[in-house]
Amino acid sequence: MGSIQSDVVNIARKIRLSGVSKAGGNVSAFKDGIIYITPSGKDLLDINESDIVVIESNEDITEKKPSREWQIHKSVYESNKINQFIVHVHSPYATAISCCRIDIPPFHFMVAAFGGDTINCSQYATFGSKELSENTVTALGNRKACLLANHGAIITGETAEEVYSLTVELEELCKAYSISNTFGKPVLLSKKEMEESIILLSK
Ligand code: 13P
Ligand code: ZN
Repeated sequence: MGSIQSDVVNIARKIRLSGVSKAGGNVSAFKDGIIYITPSGKDLLDINESDIVVIESNEDITEKKPSREWQIHKSVYESNKINQFIVHVHSPYATAISCCRIDIPPFHFMVAAFGGDTINCSQYATFGSKELSENTVTALGNRKACLLANHGAIITGETAEEVYSLTVELEELCKAYSISNTFGKPVLLSKKEMEESIILLSK
């Protein structure tokens, strides 16, 4: 089994190599009270295990500069003890919808994979701010992902595999939602239909 640092590096590389997001973004893992996060300003493709920044619970940060969004990662781990991995991306379709500040409605059953019948968009706050971390926690609630207004998306997962697959899934859903809006107004699934999907997807 690889180290937690190698999990973070692998997720970051896969995000770039798959083309799901080509710019911006950061990745972290949480283990035994410690956050392992990508450094600030470095392309996710070029990050090595030795670049990963360690943030202890007392917010002591090693000599390296962590992602500017470290407060989002910290607040989300504090608010939900189940998820051990977080991805932040500026993937184009999620970002485009975030710029319209729209909550993604139940237009497709895979919205349920994120834990509810919508994927919500946060209130706007400046990147890197404490306020943005608070807005993110509010928009996320008990879901696996949310959009950040005029910015991008945050995705969480219990495992490295889950956070990566949900990152891809969210961007595909945002793309499908955008395209379906060009054909007309998507027909939304009912509460009952979404509840059935949530049950089936959690099996
Ligand atoms: P970092 O390079 O500091 O992680 O910032 C990228 C980003 O997405 C800011 O919102
Ligand atoms: Zn960002």
